[in-house]
Amino acid sequence: MLRVASLGSGSKGNSTIIATKEATVMVDCGFTLKETTRRLERLGVPPTSLDAILVTHEHQDHISGVGPLSRKFNIPVWSTRGSLLSGKCGNLKSYSIIEGFESFDILDLSVTPLSVPHDAREPCQYLFKAHNKQLAVLTDLGSYTPELVEALKNSHGLLLECNHDEDMLWNGPYPRSLKQRVGGPLGHMSNRQAIELLKQVFSDNLQLLIASHISEQNNCPKLVRERVAESINWPQENIIIAEQNDGFEWFELS
Ligand SMILES: [Zn+2]
Ligand SMILES: [Zn+2]
Repeated sequence: MLRVASLGSGSKGNSTIIATKEATVMVDCGFTLKETTRRLERLGVPPTSLDAILVTHEHQDHISGVGPLSRKFNIPVWSTRGSLLSGKCGNLKSYSIIEGFESFDILDLSVTPLSVPHDAREPCQYLFKAHNKQLAVLTDLGSYTPELVEALKNSHGLLLECNHDEDMLWNGPYPRSLKQRVGGPLGHMSNRQAIELLKQVFSDNLQLLIASHISEQNNCPKLVRERVAESINWPQENIIIAEQNDGFEWFELS
């Protein structure tokens, strides 16, 4: 069994939960302690049941809640050295450093950190494997590499950043410097880039596709659904949107 749910996704906070028969792990926590506890409750996850918090990078919308949650409930944190050295987690009682993007296990869940181009110290995203199912969780990346394409092939589930529509970004209200950052190779994935990547890794295995980290200013869930569904010839209702306020409910890869 490999299940996934989200507490919320977008520039105001991200957090994803992955669960197997034995393990429950959180990827990132960009919400306050109170908000995290409330959102976990909605998904039926007691904070004390979390076996680990995995950090992708030190931007506020991913890391602001990691330290408080870890300290309050004594949850071990995993991150790259770069993310840890940012100091954004404060003092942690229990943490493990991800060395050289090597895979590791948390109970029956295999975790492979993936190096991604993004403007943080040592950002990574994650590929999960359990019971012959593979799920990739990818939020912040400005572009993708051949290694990433190779790693994502044959995935059964894909949570993929669809941050912005390029026309909406460049014609929108952001200051020029911010447009260049978001639209640059170390910023965020556009719908076009996400679709380009998706087409290269799509296979008959794919049963769950979630669009994440959607910009409220420079994108629209309806547009994402239309474009992504069309690109792989899926019905629009099969594309799951990770919402900023409510994330999404549990999905199980079977
Ligand atoms: Zn980021
Ligand atoms: Zn982010």
